Amino acid sequence: MRYGCDYEDSPKTQLKVIEDAAPALGSLYKGRKVGGIGDVGCISFHGAKIAVGGEGGMFLTNNKEYYEKAILLSNTGRTDRVTTFWCDVLGYEYQMANVTAALITAQVERIEELVKNKRKIWDRYYKNLKDVKELQLLKENNGDRANYCYPAVLLKTNKIKRDDLVKKLAKYNIHARNAFPRMSLFPMYKARFRNPVATRVMKYGFNLPAAANLDEKDVDFVCDVLLHLI
Ligand SMILES: *Cc1c(COP(=O)(O)O)cnc(C)c1O
Repeated sequence: MRYGCDYEDSPKTQLKVIEDAAPALGSLYKGRKVGGIGDVGCISFHGAKIAVGGEGGMFLTNNKEYYEKAILLSNTGRTDRVTTFWCDVLGYEYQMANVTAALITAQVERIEELVKNKRKIWDRYYKNLKDVKELQLLKENNGDRANYCYPAVLLKTNKIKRDDLVKKLAKYNIHARNAFPRMSLFPMYKARFRNPVATRVMKYGFNLPAAANLDEKDVDFVCDVLLHLI
């Protein structure tokens, strides 16, 4: 399966877009494959993603220059990678083992089936929780397709703190997880903007478990415990 970019440079901004599509393999945005929209896109195959290889990832571009540069940097900076160990530029060792690549390729080939499975889990969560006023389920927009790798929820009650809720779920062996922190607060960046949406998600967001082997009974159990706690 090939993913390509068809994003046009904006004449207004000349900005280049790097898509962090790490968990999003199989998702569509306005019908386009996520990861293939920006100038380059990145997909992760970390163990928590929809297609897993332990670690590793995929770099996507249809810009030949970026492609060549990425290959050069990922192979210890060697222009001739076949016959010599001479490094032309400062590079890195980001090569993937063949055995890992084989494991991942087999899953990427059946991504539609994997997405279907995650969406089935999401549908069950949605059916059970959509009318619960203490929770807001983060649903895809019309015309888009989420892979629902991490079913995402915002807590909308003051009765329990999000961190306490996630900790209490763990006592029932339910692995929920706090939403990602707001990156612009990291110490190496200058937090120049208020980022109200990211701030809200950081404070009140959490992900519900969606492992491929969960069945409807498991999802119902998670929902029952969640409703008991909020
Ligand atoms: C998982 C994830 C990453 C990190 O991916 P790695 O392969 O672990 O580097 C980055 N961004 C998002 C949004 C993710 O979900």
